[in-house]
Amino acid sequence: MKRLIFATNNKHKLHEVSELLDGVVEIVSLSEVGLAGDIPETADTLQGNALQKAQWVYERMGCDCFADDTGLEVEALGGAPGVYSARYAGEGCSFDDNINKLLAAMKGQDNRKAAFRTVICLIENGMPRYFEGRVDGTILTERYGKEGFGYDPIFMPDRFAVSFAEMPLDVKNQISHRGHAVKKLVEYLKDSSK
Ligand code: IMP
Repeated sequence: MKRLIFATNNKHKLHEVSELLDGVVEIVSLSEVGLAGDIPETADTLQGNALQKAQWVYERMGCDCFADDTGLEVEALGGAPGVYSARYAGEGCSFDDNINKLLAAMKGQDNRKAAFRTVICLIENGMPRYFEGRVDGTILTERYGKEGFGYDPIFMPDRFAVSFAEMPLDVKNQISHRGHAVKKLVEYLKDSSK
């Protein structure tokens, strides 16, 4: 089976993506290949950050790898926090800090439309390729649920009456931004191995 290093230090993402790629490719984590340290993500687009993270691994290991970058785009905030979602509440902030800041920014706001967008960059034989996924939904007025990570407790996807953090992982993976992007990656990997 093809092996790919997943350039992330986020154990939640590793778990989500490993479930989705089970039986298709063997996912190797950064710790399994002995790579430690913060991966830079200083670009101003999701695509740029995904490339930067994947390149960081490729330059060190010289083998096929991929990275994802995700942003939560809130319509009433002009698309913020977007590419800056990880550090929305400042350098070194927690998931909780980010949620608190977003809930405060959205206080009294009627338009609560938002979307998660993910871009995956696969580097295969040195060449980057991109796969995108998106899910539309609503920013809730308080936290619901304990599953997932990041902004999951305050994001309710369209056509559902619960937040991402109230869903079992297999349901989130079916409909999420990252799930859609990974499905495109899977289709590509299956086609290219024929
Ligand atoms: P990054 O892709 O790790 O840079 O993610 C940016 C920010 O979006 C981080 O704060 C993540 O916690 C958050 N994020 C990424 N994916 C998800 C998700 O699936 N649910 C909720 N928050 C997410």
